Amino acid sequence: MKQATKLIHAGEGIDTGQTPSLTTPIYETSTFVFASVADVEQYQEGTLNGYLYSRYENPTVVAVEQKLAAVDGAERALLFSSGMAAIATAFITLLKAGDEIICCSAIYGGTFHILEDLLPKLGIARRFVSIDELKDPSMVIGPKTKLVWFESPINPTLRCIDIRAVAAACRKAGVLSGMDNTFASAVNQPILSMGIDLSMQSCTKYLNGHSDVTGGVLSGATALLAPMAKMRRLLGGIMDPMPAFALGRGMKTMPLRVLQHNANALSVARFLESHRNIERIYYPGLASHPDHAIAKGQMSGFGGMVTIDVRGGKDGAYRVFDRLKVIKRAASLGGVESICSLPMLTSQYGLTDEELAKAGVSKGMIRLSIGLEDASDLIADLDHALA
Ligand SMILES: *Cc1c(COP(=O)(O)O)cnc(C)c1O
Repeated sequence: MKQATKLIHAGEGIDTGQTPSLTTPIYETSTFVFASVADVEQYQEGTLNGYLYSRYENPTVVAVEQKLAAVDGAERALLFSSGMAAIATAFITLLKAGDEIICCSAIYGGTFHILEDLLPKLGIARRFVSIDELKDPSMVIGPKTKLVWFESPINPTLRCIDIRAVAAACRKAGVLSGMDNTFASAVNQPILSMGIDLSMQSCTKYLNGHSDVTGGVLSGATALLAPMAKMRRLLGGIMDPMPAFALGRGMKTMPLRVLQHNANALSVARFLESHRNIERIYYPGLASHPDHAIAKGQMSGFGGMVTIDVRGGKDGAYRVFDRLKVIKRAASLGGVESICSLPMLTSQYGLTDEELAKAGVSKGMIRLSIGLEDASDLIADLDHALA
């Protein structure tokens, strides 16, 4: 064999013999090798244990999906290249022309735009309902409703919805319940065990936890997920092996991280609650939060997100925002680094005063994703910025 040929084939698909690797390697390969035509035939018939093509399935991705299923208490999990890819694939799989999806009007912006801009093109109707209307979903579920979709806690006010109540009402009406559990994560809030049919999370946030991967996951019963796995092949939203490896590594410390996010956020929230330059604080773990009772009933920890209204409205918030040093000004959440954002300039950007009021968003609002720094450093940073 000539050099070019040898160079391409030498060392590839290396076998570790009788000492397998402790961790899952990154199978950075787009395709898999068959020994013979008989094997290809058997693969297609489903009798050969193997892989065909990484847009379908990849061993590194499958290994991480097993971790995701474990953390969610699910039969199966499907990993996607982003949270949005997961949501879009779920909706396109579950809904068809003539169906209706009911969605809480306080919802992640990307989800809102899928319902508003994409689903109508497919002839799928969407109905937005308020948090109060979702308290009794049986009142809003209609003959064409196929899916009820919501979040809890909700960005940025961290309002909570009684998950068991929504799940039970959906089950009674024969409608699927789907929930975006990104903010709480399954460590704090195991929604499948509360009766939700389909769980979705952005892995970009707490699951990976290190702000260096974009990803999404759907989890639930195998039978529910099987058609979504097929749709994922078509739409091509599966995660690549390299970020999947990073996600799998990040997830090993997730229960520890989430506990510390909870503890740090509670410390910060308690400090901010009595600060003279804070007008209002939103943290489901505080008795002052309107949904504290609901949160207590369904969350084992209250998460790392804390939102505040700063005295002095927009000017006050802008000033505090720029004075923070340890807490970085950045979108997203759920990483080890504490970050802050202004809902008015991010999730609620471009809304009219009336729409802002409806979403419960003030101009002096700052959203904090409390990370894993020492809580005393975060408190000192906020105290200095608020002075
Ligand atoms: C970030 C986020 C998403 C979207 O996830 P991506 O990974 O950014 O695509 C969906 N829902 C919530 C609540 C989020 O915070």
